[in-house]
Amino acid sequence: MKIHENHSLKGLNSFGLAVRARFFCELRRLGGLKSVVQWRRQHPELPVLLLGGGSNLLFTADYPGLVLRVRLQEREVLGSDGEFVYVRAGAGEDWHAFVRWTLEQGLAGLENLSLIPGTVGAAPVQNIGAYGVELKDVFYELQALDWRTAELREFRLADCRFGYRDSFFKSVEPERWLIASVTFRLPLQPQWNMAYAGIAEQLQGAEPSALRISDAVTALRRSKLPDPAVLGNAGSFFKNPLVSPSQWQGLKKAHPELPGWPQPDGPVKLSAAWLIEQCGWKGRREGDAGVYAGHALVLVNYGAATGAALWQLACTVMTAVQVRFGVALEPEPLVLPRLPCRHEGGVLPG
Ligand SMILES: Cc1cc2nc3c(=O)[nH]c(=O)nc-3n(C[C@H](O)[C@H](O)[C@H](O)COP(=O)(O)OP(=O)(O)OC[C@H]3O[C@@H](n4cnc5c(N)ncnc54)[C@H](O)[C@@H]3O)c2cc1C
Repeated sequence: MKIHENHSLKGLNSFGLAVRARFFCELRRLGGLKSVVQWRRQHPELPVLLLGGGSNLLFTADYPGLVLRVRLQEREVLGSDGEFVYVRAGAGEDWHAFVRWTLEQGLAGLENLSLIPGTVGAAPVQNIGAYGVELKDVFYELQALDWRTAELREFRLADCRFGYRDSFFKSVEPERWLIASVTFRLPLQPQWNMAYAGIAEQLQGAEPSALRISDAVTALRRSKLPDPAVLGNAGSFFKNPLVSPSQWQGLKKAHPELPGWPQPDGPVKLSAAWLIEQCGWKGRREGDAGVYAGHALVLVNYGAATGAALWQLACTVMTAVQVRFGVALEPEPLVLPRLPCRHEGGVLPG
């Protein structure tokens, strides 16, 4: 497996940032991991970043270690137990192409997750979700390698500790496990999830089907989100914050129109987009770094923004929300490295 030095990542991150990796290689076969493990033993001081499609990352500087791009390809219908069909995909498969392939096989379940950029292997990392469905709803198991030792392990649903845009792989043992393949459990008797605003309208009275819902979701997403090929972005940059029921009561009293959704386990999820919009940041830009005019959660690179400038903008937005509402926003993408937030009065914790 060839290891390149000083490799450009410009085409490999959806913000389109002109950053470089000190070392870079692509993993196309599992066997190749042995050479990476050996290489790592010779360079124990260097960090390693697992890379899929680069659509949930913000590089604020060049990467000082090895970027390992996972390109393992595989698609297989494993069989059925009479209630579900089990389908496995390699981590390097393009997510949307895989979703469409399952639909073309006559299998439903992934249609609401259409057009999310990135790879199959990154999907469990933040338990991707959209239009009322999360990856955990269709997940069966995954195979992951501890890339430090090349040991292979199976993770079932409970092992993955999926949460809202979160998992074991994102917050408990980040960067340790290389997800090699994911197996999905797709229902033979699907129940259409069309509660989300806009899906029914897109169908215009047509009988729902998995392919039609996928087309509807695709059209809705295209109308709302900027295409990273045209305008660099990483989708929603901020997670919707969770607050305690008592904080929610106080906020609701002061701002009766604030949208919030009580969660089954207690906290209330707030709309980060609403909070940002109220602070006047929707559509504003600082040089080439901006908050997208069509969607307050999306930060965009109008061309020549650096990752550090985008991160500084994110810090400014987070500070504005904190000061006005007392609510802490968290970034959704991995920020590398996560620089301290600069503020007029000094440095804020990042
Ligand atoms: C326009 C746009 C819209 C988006 N919409 C949504 C949305 O609706 N819902 C949503 O949830 N997300 C959304 N995203 C975010 C993003 O598409 C997802 O998080 C996606 O799963 C990232 O995939 P990736 O392959 O690009 O991951 P990368 O950005 O390459 O990596 C993301 C993280 O996963 C890790 N990783 C990558 N591959 C592996 C692997 N094989 N094993 C272990 N770790 C790995 C990386 O180290 C990193 O920590 C959107 C992004 C964009 C640009």
